[in-house]
Amino acid sequence: MAFDLPKLPYDYAALEPYIDTQTMQLHHDKHHAAYVNNLNAAIEGTAFASLPIDQVIARLNEVPEEKRTAVRNNGGGHLNHSDFWVTMTPGGSKEPTGELANAINTKFGSFDAFKSAFNDAGVKRFGSGWVWLVLDKSGNLAITSTANQDNPITDGQTAILGNDVWEHAYYLKYQNRRPEYLGAWWNVVNWDVVGQRYAKARG
Ligand code: MN
Repeated sequence: MAFDLPKLPYDYAALEPYIDTQTMQLHHDKHHAAYVNNLNAAIEGTAFASLPIDQVIARLNEVPEEKRTAVRNNGGGHLNHSDFWVTMTPGGSKEPTGELANAINTKFGSFDAFKSAFNDAGVKRFGSGWVWLVLDKSGNLAITSTANQDNPITDGQTAILGNDVWEHAYYLKYQNRRPEYLGAWWNVVNWDVVGQRYAKARG
């Protein structure tokens, strides 16, 4: 069974003006599609080809060594982008609610303080990578970042929310202004879905 490129749950233009149409087209149809195609080529014929992608990335150290780098990069790319699309929306709650709001306030002091810390981690990720809100091994919220297409699940953490800080995610519109992109991106976060991810991760 091969992995498939998921459809976007909204139009390419839906996240304008914060994320531009051409970036969405290239990011989904070219970048994410390439990760899926390369993942399928690498994983074909192994026992991992039939697992959910998050389980593949959680068990990277079991993937045959000669295929592991390709699966890490392209499988991580597939997992990260699949989650990324669905945690954005042109509508929905614009800030966390319920238990997640309480947990963010307890951990970071306020929603604004959380966003500042997340943005800071995104700015400081050198080169290509992702910035994350995770549930750590102790069940606490934490902000972290990863290089390339690595996902926190490989380190036993559960990603609640991630933002893509590869230049392909923002360069057409924001050029070198990554902090501006990070700041604008909060306008399209789907806090309804993020809250559901938090509840599921908490079990
Ligand atoms: Mn990307």
